[in-house]
Amino acid sequence: MAGTQTDEHVSLKLVVNAETNKVYFAEAGKDFVDVLFSFMTLPLGTIARLIDKDSKMGPITLGSLNSLYHSVAHLDTQYKEMLLQPSNSAEDFCNTLKLNIDDTGPKKYFMCTHCCSILLSFTTLRKCRCANNLTQEVFLKHFCNGFVKDGVFIITDDLIVMPNSVDYATFSLFQNLGIRNPSSVKEMTINVTKEKVLDLLKCSLLSKSCLTDLLLEKKPTFQSSTFLSSRIENDSGIKFKLKLVIRKSNGKILYAQGEKDFADMLLSFLTFPMGGVVRKLGGNSSVGSIDGLYKSIADINENVYFMSKPAKNRLVDPCLLPHFKLSIQILPIPRPSIFRYYRYNEFINGTCTIRVMIFKDGERENSDGKLPEMKLLNPETPIANAEGFVKGPAMYVATDNLVVAPFSPISALNFLNRLSIPFNDLKEKDVTIGLKECLNILKASLTTTSALTNGLRHLLTEVKEEK
Ligand SMILES: [Zn+2]
Repeated sequence: MAGTQTDEHVSLKLVVNAETNKVYFAEAGKDFVDVLFSFMTLPLGTIARLIDKDSKMGPITLGSLNSLYHSVAHLDTQYKEMLLQPSNSAEDFCNTLKLNIDDTGPKKYFMCTHCCSILLSFTTLRKCRCANNLTQEVFLKHFCNGFVKDGVFIITDDLIVMPNSVDYATFSLFQNLGIRNPSSVKEMTINVTKEKVLDLLKCSLLSKSCLTDLLLEKKPTFQSSTFLSSRIENDSGIKFKLKLVIRKSNGKILYAQGEKDFADMLLSFLTFPMGGVVRKLGGNSSVGSIDGLYKSIADINENVYFMSKPAKNRLVDPCLLPHFKLSIQILPIPRPSIFRYYRYNEFINGTCTIRVMIFKDGERENSDGKLPEMKLLNPETPIANAEGFVKGPAMYVATDNLVVAPFSPISALNFLNRLSIPFNDLKEKDVTIGLKECLNILKASLTTTSALTNGLRHLLTEVKEEK
């Protein structure tokens, strides 16, 4: 970040307890609210990368997410980049944010320089109809100006966001927040910089007093919460066969051994946008203040306070980009035709730059006239034919904190040796897991460092019952 430090900031008014400095609530405008809401669009892989960065609060650990993310670096996969720098499917909405902490970089598109074809590709490896490669990089034209309309929003310490309107009773809010006397509060204004946004992201994932932590620059600590299993029923389409290796003395799963599709499933967590995860977990991700933030976004009237209905949808029901498609899919992916691409010539100082506009079906009319629609070549590449992230056929292993690695008897031996666990303290169990268990592992991965033990606990108790 050296050399790119800017004075760019957004101001945030805080109403604070005069004695303890506890923040009762904040008043913020569109610029801040858009940034806060954009957390929902961040893929988990991006979150893992961002929380590992230094800021006032230092790096933080979120459940097993950091270890899952770091295991990608050691995997033999040509899709490393895709997992380590997953693209944000709401890039067109987030690129205009005043303080954008997502450093993933814009998704690249390429077209042909030799003919006037309308073909578009995610890579330069694809060939045009004229037999030349698609090599000219084109950029996305950003037309979405964030998520919410201009206005004043109230934000509580645990990130419940409410529009400032007659629908929301101010005095009962004061009472609910424990403000008894106007003289017991003081008003402060802080300048929120990119570094502070990064701190806010970290707080939002761990804390229920995010704004107080931000003001006092107090590092929130990760508290393993009681894990409650999700109530989703199993869908017959998703099945993974696993061999669990369990330590008898503490009942914890040391590792799970599975085929490549199991490794792909775990790695695909990194591509999931936070809002999609909360939605899939029925609003109960148990991650810091995220569920409350998500619910408050869902509760805000899209016709009055959002730029558009799609702007809200990108937050509460974000989709995966089609190139993340796997053969066994946990999070739904829209059918490929849902995205439409248009070529657009932008003239700046007499120079013409070709840009691409991307729309989701029904999101916006092609109102700028008759822009030529471009055809994206096989949008599912490079994971074409659902070949997945890791190479197969092979066995993979995932540890309790989701370090994913290729499996071999020697690596297993080394692992057990490192932990100095005697063989008589081990037992094996074969299980088949479905969607419910996958979502339990996903949820546990964000809240505990024992993602497998917590996510598959109901399968472990069955072991005891059998005896
Ligand atoms: Zn061509």
